[in-house]
Amino acid sequence: MTWFIQAIYFLTAVAFIYALKQMSHPKTARQGVVYAGVAMAVAVLATFLWPGMHNLGLMVVALVVGSAVAWWAAKVVAMTDMPQMVAIYNGMGGGAAGTIAAVELLKGELTPAFAALAVLGGLIGAVSFSGSLIAFAKLQRLMKERPITFPGQQVFNLVWLAVTVVIGIVLVFKPVVSLIVLFFLLALVFGVLMTLPIGGADMPVVISLYNAFTGLAVGFEGIALSQPALMVAGTVVGAAGTLLTQLMAKAMNRSLANVLFGAFGAVEQESEIEGEMKEIGLEDAAALMAYASKVIIVPGYGMAVAQAQHKIKELMDELEKRGVEVKFAIHPVAGRMPGHMNVLLAEAGVPYDKLFDLDDINPEFETADVALVIGANDVVNPAARREGSPLYGMPILDVDKAKNVIVIKRGRGKGFAGIENELFYMPNTRMLFGDAKDVVTKLVQSIKQY
Ligand code: NDP
Repeated sequence: MTWFIQAIYFLTAVAFIYALKQMSHPKTARQGVVYAGVAMAVAVLATFLWPGMHNLGLMVVALVVGSAVAWWAAKVVAMTDMPQMVAIYNGMGGGAAGTIAAVELLKGELTPAFAALAVLGGLIGAVSFSGSLIAFAKLQRLMKERPITFPGQQVFNLVWLAVTVVIGIVLVFKPVVSLIVLFFLLALVFGVLMTLPIGGADMPVVISLYNAFTGLAVGFEGIALSQPALMVAGTVVGAAGTLLTQLMAKAMNRSLANVLFGAFGAVEQESEIEGEMKEIGLEDAAALMAYASKVIIVPGYGMAVAQAQHKIKELMDELEKRGVEVKFAIHPVAGRMPGHMNVLLAEAGVPYDKLFDLDDINPEFETADVALVIGANDVVNPAARREGSPLYGMPILDVDKAKNVIVIKRGRGKGFAGIENELFYMPNTRMLFGDAKDVVTKLVQSIKQY
């Protein structure tokens, strides 16, 4: 039986890796999620077959309650709230790994080598748990989104971590209850301390990092418990989380150290741009687009906030009916999570072949009659080309090169980087103020007249 269960675990591990591969492309991503879910269900069922497994009733109750809550939460969560949902789920994974470590240490049966792995997994799992809860609270606006800093914070955090590690080392040789409790309390507080100085908008990167942490913690617990399934699943999650974290930091042209310790967004940047924003009326904007030969739509975080994607699809259809070539320019960090724009536009039925990456679309802006920016800000800010700007070095969409630029946003709100956008003051740019969904709805109605 043990051999059979291990074989099932191996197959599910292969399925996880295949599912991850599927998730790397929008066309196959949904299928990948289904494969991963089925593989997880099979692995959980196989676990019930372990010889000598007890507390089956309690396990079933926990599974039913957990699944019901997750099912309900996934149904009601808005797409814009997805990052915090991922944070809370990820935190639970870290918490579970930490709890397993605590139980194993409390049993006191581990050799020092395995106890060391349990302590390491416990530390990472506990940090991931409490850190993810703070990430959730910041994104859910249950607490201040801005970085919370105080003088000497980094040294304080470092000393805290050092004390936690020292207690962890003592614990390996002397696993007494009081030390175990103290160690986990210190680790949990460290997760909070580490996350407080990070701004709300950097949370997706941090969540991805904690995801990698959770994977590592699970992997370490797998070794401590001699469970290959946990080792493989943990390593896969750890590797995927690490790669995603790196990709996100790279797309923002910031180092991970800057994200973690830079307290980005702590200080409001003052406006240094001269000139005035010019507005455009709805009718003029509609006419400009209806008679254009090429329109490039640039969605950003504001599209997600307004849930304007379905109306944008209608806009695309109306323009195409009039022979206008419509393309979408997708910046890798537009929105608040990787693939945010792709997911929303796919949900609205915009075909994948209309979505273009930064490198592919940038040369095309020069030939566009209209670049329509919908709720995007930082990803189109030409300040990123200027040394000294907080955005310097971040690759941007070259929207300013289009013949006409129309920007839809509610007002003069800044983007996540908190700096003014030079694009809004350029001679070829005109602002169309309002909520993205309302404005696009009205644009569609106006365009129908042409
Ligand atoms: P930004 O956050 O820079 O700007 C969004 C703009 O949308 C705001 O200026 C806001 O202006 C406008 N807006 C908000 N609500 C609405 C609405 N209902 N209707 C119309 N407009 C609205 O978004 P971008 O997508 O351009 O950039 C994403 C930023 O997030 C980048 O700086 C990126 O580095 C960062 N980030 C992205 C991550 C990712 O994985 N995607 C991860 C971490 C950070 P106003 O208030 O005036 O309406």
